[in-house]
Amino acid sequence: MSKEVSYNFDGKVALVTGGGSGIGKATATLLARSGARVAIIGRDPGELRSAAAEISPGDPGAVLCVSADVSESGEMEQAIAEIGEKLGGIDIVVANAGINGVWAPLEELEVDEWNTTIGINLRGTFLTVKLALPYLKRLGGSVIVVSSINGTRVFSNSGATAYSCSKAAQVAFCKMTALELAKDKIRVNAVCPGAIETNIEDSTERRSIEGLHLPVEYPAGDVPLTGGTPGHPDQVAQVIAFLASDASAHVTGTEIFIEGAQSLLLG
Ligand code: NAP
Repeated sequence: MSKEVSYNFDGKVALVTGGGSGIGKATATLLARSGARVAIIGRDPGELRSAAAEISPGDPGAVLCVSADVSESGEMEQAIAEIGEKLGGIDIVVANAGINGVWAPLEELEVDEWNTTIGINLRGTFLTVKLALPYLKRLGGSVIVVSSINGTRVFSNSGATAYSCSKAAQVAFCKMTALELAKDKIRVNAVCPGAIETNIEDSTERRSIEGLHLPVEYPAGDVPLTGGTPGHPDQVAQVIAFLASDASAHVTGTEIFIEGAQSLLLG
């Protein structure tokens, strides 16, 4: 594991969507350990509660757990209002919640499957950032969107079209809003992880994609920096914390790849 850099988020409030597992939980843990008051959003209250116990082992009640589906505007309006009110503002937003969704040939991909992936990954990002804006505008802030190497550098995961389009659009969203919100001292950046060990497989349905496989093999593994081993959520959390902190005060509208050169090989 890489060495941890320390950050100081005393007095800051951080909202992490999908904070109940994987990259979101690792990020919420690092932000909380560095002094931030943290709120996590997810659809499963039980998962959020058990994540809170890991994020803040001494005082799980310090983590505000709010159940909501990021793709549903009414639920997100309520959730973000509750967080802003209970924690007295929002300074850092990590739009992380996402699914892989259905990976299938284009002819077989159903409209509702396309809509579900775009709805959670892209509309969810839009709603999260838009609804947090009134709080971010008070004193300025930092938004970090969790995109992917898929759709930004890698286009060889045939079948993952809806997912890749959602992830590409998240980066465009960051660039558009970084410029629009610069006057409000709000920075907006994206991280693009490669393969990271999380529960993301649970949100993946692969259908009839065997025939789409490209005839390419990587006998030594496809992550050159590690010899094939996937990354760890903490390694993504470290970069998100950097983008949330004043150490990146002049960085906005950009994406950072966290993937051990995987996307350079596969791209
Ligand atoms: P994960 O462990 O499955 O975490 C995803 C989180 O998002 C879960 O807590 C899930 O909770 C939440 N979520 C999903 N749909 C939601 C919805 N509609 N409303 C609210 N919360 C929702 O996977 P992860 O790898 O940490 O994924 C986090 C982000 O990283 C995703 O955006 C993913 O695309 C991106 N990413 C991951 C990898 C990787 O290899 N792991 C690579 C590149 C990018 P509930 O299902 O309980 O709601």
